[in-house]
Amino acid sequence: MANLDFQSNFVHVIDGNSSPTEGHRHGINPATLKPLWDVPVATHGDVDRAAAAAKKAFKSWSRVPYEERRSKVLAYADAVDKHRTQFRDLLTTEQGKPIPQADVETDCAIEWMRGMANIPLPEDTLEENKDRTVITRYTPIGVVGALVPWNFPLMLATAKIAPALLTGNVIVVKPSPFTPYCGLKLVELAQQFFPPGVVQSLSGGDDLGPWITEHPGFDKISFTGSTATGKAVMRSASKTLKRVTLELGGNDPAIVFPDVNVDKVAEQICLNLKRIYVHETIFDAFKEALVKHTKSYTLGDGSKPGVTHGPLQNKMQVDRVKTFFNDVKTEGWQVAVGGEIEKNQGYFITPTIIDRPPEKSRIVVEEPFGPIVPILSWKDEEDVISRANDTTMGLGASVWTNDLDKAAEVAKQIQAGTVWINKHFELSPYAPFGGHKESGLGTEWGANGLKGFCNAQTLFFNKNIVS
Ligand code: NAD
Repeated sequence: MANLDFQSNFVHVIDGNSSPTEGHRHGINPATLKPLWDVPVATHGDVDRAAAAAKKAFKSWSRVPYEERRSKVLAYADAVDKHRTQFRDLLTTEQGKPIPQADVETDCAIEWMRGMANIPLPEDTLEENKDRTVITRYTPIGVVGALVPWNFPLMLATAKIAPALLTGNVIVVKPSPFTPYCGLKLVELAQQFFPPGVVQSLSGGDDLGPWITEHPGFDKISFTGSTATGKAVMRSASKTLKRVTLELGGNDPAIVFPDVNVDKVAEQICLNLKRIYVHETIFDAFKEALVKHTKSYTLGDGSKPGVTHGPLQNKMQVDRVKTFFNDVKTEGWQVAVGGEIEKNQGYFITPTIIDRPPEKSRIVVEEPFGPIVPILSWKDEEDVISRANDTTMGLGASVWTNDLDKAAEVAKQIQAGTVWINKHFELSPYAPFGGHKESGLGTEWGANGLKGFCNAQTLFFNKNIVS
């Protein structure tokens, strides 16, 4: 296997070849604000060429027997595994997440490829009798455009590439302009396993995504990103009735019952959550424990040992999060910990917990997408469930209690694609992931996710033909 150079030469790949462009841009290391390597800026013509190569490649790739496609995807996963440390370090450099979190994402990136290759997608026999057999089979859609966000640039790329290829589609990966590097290296590596045109990449600026979603040469868009962009993607895709899977924003609540071990749960409830509802009888103790754990975080350059929390990824995100810090003053919110952004060289934001802001305040209603989280108190179960559901979002939620029957009863009333019990944010390549309400459309991963890359085709075999 040819070695990949992770320190330079970031190219996009069209029809099996690195395709030079006139224009270039670059990402920024969010911990140091130092510019990173140049990457290509695709033109309209590049999109046309990638779509044409993909269409040609689809003809033969879709006919490759499933077992052969599967073994190629598994060999590709092994190659990513062989380069895992380089991918992990590149991820920390471009995204900012500390090494332990980058390790988890890299492991998931590999596990998702292998896991999805282990999910069978057999034909369904719906009727089988002396007169007829009715079968539904799952056929590839065609050319997939994968639009990837900046928060999980490695894992969300492999978790789109693998199911697309396994189901017989071809794919063009478009990384986020903020984090193009892991995605481009993944696609470069893929050329060692797949024929030209099966896995391609396009790198560019903000106009590239819309060019792909409106291009008639793409048949399906697999999109992960914000809800606002998801709506734009759907509008654009509707012009040619492209299939879309939309994995969008969230406003995840946690509901904490009074029977939990306060310290242990506070330690686990991380800043991934968007709203923390704590039973009033343990509220003060829980808040104190949360503050203690938040103060123990080490904020810094993710490549340095001991760092637990990295910077935000980009200035746009920092500016958005800052508006919530401005609200702290103007709205007079109580701060449990943090509250001011300390001056720093990178995109670092002081982890902050807001103590019982009004239920309709922006910090409760919107997704800040940064380490500023409201903690709220509850006493009536029905009321807290309705507050948890009082949002246009429905991505994830968690319920924390030792009473698993109670947890199940509550979880089933939450309007979210995933509800975790005594944990937050646990995923599996075997489980479908997606949002309810404005958090998404369709799911990715699991058998359901594989079907999202397929058309259903039903065959009716009538056996009693009168000759
Ligand atoms: P984003 O919506 O700005 O961008 C996502 C991708 O779409 C990027 O590749 C971007 O270049 C591209 N894009 C931007 N505008 C486009 C357009 N008009 N048409 C087509 N493509 C376009 O999202 P982001 O800021 O990169 O990511 C953060 C968001 O992603 C958050 O809201 C977060 O909640 C969401 N997210 C959701 C999930 C999930 O699984 N549901 C996972 C990760 C992130």
